[in-house]
Amino acid sequence: MNKKSVTDVDVKGKRVLVRCDFNVPMKDGKITDENRIMGALPTIKYLMEHGAKVVLCSHMGKPHNIFDEKVKLNKKEKKAVEALPESEREKATAEYIEKAKKSEPTKLTLKPVADRLNQLLDNKVTFASDVIGPDAEKKVAALKEGECVLLENLRFYAGEEGRDLEFCKKLASYCDIYVNDAFGTAHRSHASTAAIVEYGLVKTAVCGFLIQKELEVMADSLENPVRPFVAVLGGAKVADKLNVISNLLNKCDTLIIGGGMAYTFLKAEGYEIGKSLVDDEKLGYCKDMMQKAKDMGKKLLLPVDTVIAKDFPNPIDAEIEVKTVKVSEIPADMEGLDIGEASRKLFADAIKGAKTVIWNGPMGVFENPTLAKGTIAIAEAMAEAKGATTIIGGGDSAAAVQQLGFADKMTHISTGGGASLELFEGKVLPGIACLNDKD
Ligand code: AMP
Repeated sequence: MNKKSVTDVDVKGKRVLVRCDFNVPMKDGKITDENRIMGALPTIKYLMEHGAKVVLCSHMGKPHNIFDEKVKLNKKEKKAVEALPESEREKATAEYIEKAKKSEPTKLTLKPVADRLNQLLDNKVTFASDVIGPDAEKKVAALKEGECVLLENLRFYAGEEGRDLEFCKKLASYCDIYVNDAFGTAHRSHASTAAIVEYGLVKTAVCGFLIQKELEVMADSLENPVRPFVAVLGGAKVADKLNVISNLLNKCDTLIIGGGMAYTFLKAEGYEIGKSLVDDEKLGYCKDMMQKAKDMGKKLLLPVDTVIAKDFPNPIDAEIEVKTVKVSEIPADMEGLDIGEASRKLFADAIKGAKTVIWNGPMGVFENPTLAKGTIAIAEAMAEAKGATTIIGGGDSAAAVQQLGFADKMTHISTGGGASLELFEGKVLPGIACLNDKD
């Protein structure tokens, strides 16, 4: 990797702004999964131990910019307001805003993260209840070497996602050095992830250990994979992964496609797929990809059998009656919801013979135990792929691997679903492109 990291700069006595990804799941004010906090610790500890004055920042969830003059409604609320008669819109908007202003300071605050960090870092972490306000200013100014302050949720301000220059200037005034360690938002071009550097407000901009590791494993495996290289894609829609499919076909030896997106490929091959998920607009694209695989001498594996049910489970984890049929035998009134046993074996054999495997997206409706077997089979096969580099590209597949207890058997589980998908697409991530190159 040709980007500078924290070890390439002298941080002693410097104020260092670190963009972290502390967007952790919360329930009733409690953190339910600490992975992202633990992932950020090596960089924070390194900086503190090397005498930096550390200013941490992050977003949490999708707030309404409640610290801003212009509070925004989310898409759903906007739609609901637009559906109302003109005379009622102002009142409904005000109600949504009031509700957000009441709930978000307790629901989407980073204070619980600061408390946890403080426990983990010898009581050296304080919390600022704003970002570009007096509390942050005061606490940043009071920092001593080896101390740390976490600022409040960046997205309480419209300036974060809006890349506002004044917002960036204020953030930049807190630091001599900028560190990006938030891989989960590295594909976003926001104030704290890219604009602060792109506007020339901080000259020294490097990555932290988390981003360094993500890039070393994933970018290097994509560029110089040990072969055979197998890529596994699943999830709901073909449309979400168009560029991923095409780019991975260029790089891998075998592309496995399962999950909801497989049925559009199967339909493009001429199969009747009943009520299964399909994206009719993408049939031509799927045909092109199958032709591309043939032309390039690559294997494109699709399910050969499928687990079907009368309807999609409702609620998603409800008990469900299923049966397994060949993909050529899906009845018109049934829906394919997981890959069948023969497909599990076909896919697992390909994975076990690989030396590099990357995976993104479940093979079926894995939220339901009856429909999770395909997803489990992929995780198991990857865990058993001897001597292979195995990479989980975040999101649902990462959650599945963790729940199933296979996490320590994988080479790398990415902390960013969206960001790793963009890497798989071959895109340059703005949060990484803006960092200083190595000399
Ligand atoms: P994605 O966000 O694109 O990775 O898709 C993940 C979602 O795809 C999960 O919530 C799964 O339940 C869903 N999914 C996987 N397979 C199927 C299928 N055969 N039919 C419908 N949904 C599916």
